[in-house]
This record gives sequence, C-alpha cells and structure tokens, in this order.
Amino acid sequence: MKNPFSTLINIILPPRCINCGTLLSEKNGLCSECFNNIHFISEPLCNRCGCPLPTAQIGQKMLCAECLQKKKPLITMKRAAFIYDDSSKKLILDFKFYDKTSSAEAIAQIMHGAGRDIWSLTPNVLIPVPLHRLRLLKRRYNQSALLAHHLSKLTGIPTDCTSLIRQENTIPQVLLNQQQRMHNLKHAFAVKNPQKIAGKSVVLIDDVSTTGSTLEECARTLKKAGAAKIYALTAGRTEL
Ligand SMILES: [Zn+2]
Ligand SMILES: [Zn+2]
Repeated sequence: MKNPFSTLINIILPPRCINCGTLLSEKNGLCSECFNNIHFISEPLCNRCGCPLPTAQIGQKMLCAECLQKKKPLITMKRAAFIYDDSSKKLILDFKFYDKTSSAEAIAQIMHGAGRDIWSLTPNVLIPVPLHRLRLLKRRYNQSALLAHHLSKLTGIPTDCTSLIRQENTIPQVLLNQQQRMHNLKHAFAVKNPQKIAGKSVVLIDDVSTTGSTLEECARTLKKAGAAKIYALTAGRTEL
C-alpha cells in the first residue's frame, strides 16, 4: 500500500525530471529522454582519474597516458557520474543556484553508482568541498554538503562538514582562466581539526569538477593535515 504521506507530497510537489522538469510518475529522477541524452561515464575508464578510455580488456585496471606519467598523485582515485556539458548543465545549475535542493537525493543516487570503485576501497569519511561562510549565507546551503549527506545515507560512511574550511572568499572558479584559478585557490582551504583527519582515507564530494584544481587544493590541504588517502567523487566533470 502506498504511504498516504508520500501520496500527499506527490500531489503538492509532483515528482519531476531533475534535468528538464518534465512531470514523472514515481519520484524525482531523470526522464527517459534526459537519461538517454546525458553522457554518463562508463567503463573502460582510467582507474585513477576516471577519464573515459577508448579500449580496455575486461577486468583490467588501466591508466590514461597522463596518469601513467604522474608518480605520486594527490588524489588516488577520482570518479564522476556524467560529462558536464549542455546535456547536463541545467541539472547542475538549477541545483546549485536556483534552490533546487530536492534534486540532491536523485543526484546522490547517480553518484553512488559512479563511486563503486571508491566504496570498494572502504574510505573512512566523506568531506564536501566547503563554501566560504559569506557565500554560504548568500546561497543558504552548500550543494556539496547536501550531496555528501545523501551519499552518507546510501553508503553508511560518515560525513565531516566542519574539519575542512574555506578561508578566503574566492571568486567563483568558472569566471577565471587556469592561471588565475591556481592563484585564487592557493591557501583557500585549511583544516580545523587535524586530529579528526589524521590517518583517514577521505572522499571529497563536489557537484562538478572542471579543471580539477579545487579538488587538488583540498586534497593538498588534507594531506598536509595527515590524511592517509584522498579520493574524489563528483556528479559531473568536463571532458579532459
Ligand atoms: Zn528530462
Ligand atoms: Zn587518468
């Protein structure tokens, strides 16, 4: 039997496609058209950075050319659910800037599937990429923390939203070029409780990774504070 409360909720707030807004029958998610249009990242992919690879033998762990050259990566494993392009842009922007927090659960569910290689490494804690206090006041919620909260429910791995903090009110990364981004990010993050981080394997959670520099800087800060391993899971990533 259907829960009368959820029936009532469905009348007031009918479930919609989190990308295009089409009404759905069940719960918030993707309509079949958006599901077919969004470029989900699937195997074969680079075992470390998660970028799609042209071919691989089944079951073989492969690295892309760039990862083969880097000996000591800050982030041991990176995964994303889909390519951040025109097909998925609306989903992310609505969630991030237009208060569509109701999408968080559905996005987290998609990320949960994309993160299976990370979950198999039994990480200790999920840490959302923090927003600066002032930006948080303006936007009222940290979209990455919302995703981490739902991923925590799905995986049983606790979330730590207080140890990693953002120090300066950095300009949104999307408005900057690569060089400005790096400068803007230097010393942007700090760890408040190093004793909570020391020896832990951490999964950084964010909505989108574009150049990856925000995740790298978070990873650098956490490593300095004594974190053992850093993994990163995002909903979208630009194709690199
Ligand atoms: Zn749709
Ligand atoms: Zn790679």
